Amino acid sequence: MDLFEYQARDIFAKHDVPVLAGEVIETPEAAREVTERLGGRAVVKAQVKTGGRGKAGGVKLASDPADAVEKAGQILGMDIKGHTVQRVMLAQTADIAEEYYVSFLLDRTNRTFLAMASVEGGVEIEEVAATKPEALAKIPVDAIEGVTEAKAREIAEAAKFPAELIDQIANVLIKLWDVFIKEDALLVEVNPLVKTGEGKVIALDGKVSLDENADFRQPDHEALEAADNQSGAAAELEAAAKAKGLNYVKLDGQVGIIGNGAGLVMSTLDVVAYAGEKHSNVKPANFLDIGGGASAEVMANGLEIILGDPDVKSVFVNVFGGITACDAVANGIVQAMELLKSKGEDVNKPLVVRLDGNNAELGRKILTDAAHPLVQQVDTMDGAADKAAELAAK
Ligand code: GDP
Ligand code: MN
Repeated sequence: MDLFEYQARDIFAKHDVPVLAGEVIETPEAAREVTERLGGRAVVKAQVKTGGRGKAGGVKLASDPADAVEKAGQILGMDIKGHTVQRVMLAQTADIAEEYYVSFLLDRTNRTFLAMASVEGGVEIEEVAATKPEALAKIPVDAIEGVTEAKAREIAEAAKFPAELIDQIANVLIKLWDVFIKEDALLVEVNPLVKTGEGKVIALDGKVSLDENADFRQPDHEALEAADNQSGAAAELEAAAKAKGLNYVKLDGQVGIIGNGAGLVMSTLDVVAYAGEKHSNVKPANFLDIGGGASAEVMANGLEIILGDPDVKSVFVNVFGGITACDAVANGIVQAMELLKSKGEDVNKPLVVRLDGNNAELGRKILTDAAHPLVQQVDTMDGAADKAAELAAK
């Protein structure tokens, strides 16, 4: 589970990572007293579980307590990528000379932990990785050895941090590794890690993702999860999907996606994004894996979530029949459409269905015979992705 920035800040402080004082509030008026406590000035930061808050206007400098009340009032309630701001953190201001980037994460592809570091922080790291890959150092970290003093220096030097900062950076890396291991995290990221005018290194923004599989030995994490009061269109869709036991993640695009199996759904996202390049750049609207047993009820639940997303213009159902054969899935789709209609839901978006694998022919026949006006079939994954993208672009 991803944490809010203020929770990451608290965890950093607990493990002696250098951070600035900060407090979280939920009403603008509360900003006055907190800003006074912080020394009269503060940075007001939206607490939402999505990146790019700075760009969206969710990070503002307040020059005095009254200004902090005003800025908090502007940011509370703001919508950032479908997340409504419910809380803001007020933090001590920093005099920033340089902005850097450091992180630890689980590198699943290479079956190792990975340290990443760059002297080009502050901006989105994906952008650095894409445009200036040589500026992003990637150093594997052995799970047993962990981040020793020597390892920390190796990471800092690989990222070409200035010589006079290596001691401080190495210290921060060792402390962040403590966070990563002792808190059972899957990601610990600091962006920016700053050098102040006085030459001190401080973690200014933190992102921590915890491994929920370790909750049994992390009693403190329950309170962190309980503070998850996200709202806004994206958060509400995700919460509704979670309540139905669905594996759903909202994305930015227009093509709703339903598939069976996480791997198939991931590659469906790629294929749709690729097809979208030819159709006004439409993109996948979500990740949704309905798993192996794609019953009518699960299919109806999935469709209900996806059709409830106002961004969705078409839906691509991509199923590879296995133990649950395609005829069962096809019946599921037909019954799901009936079920939604009987619940009074307004089903008015085109569905492109691709069935392959076990009993594909029988499944296709069931859909052909049902002849639902909104459902069309395409036999190949690429062809279906192209059709769905074309319909979404209309
Ligand atoms: P993000 O956009 O969601 O990653 O939010 P960040 O917390 O990283 O803040 C975005 C940017 O705001 C940073 O890269 C800094 O340039 C700036 N910023 C954040 N805190 C401070 C601060 O205390 N003082 C100053 N001067 N700038 C800040
Ligand atoms: Mn940041």
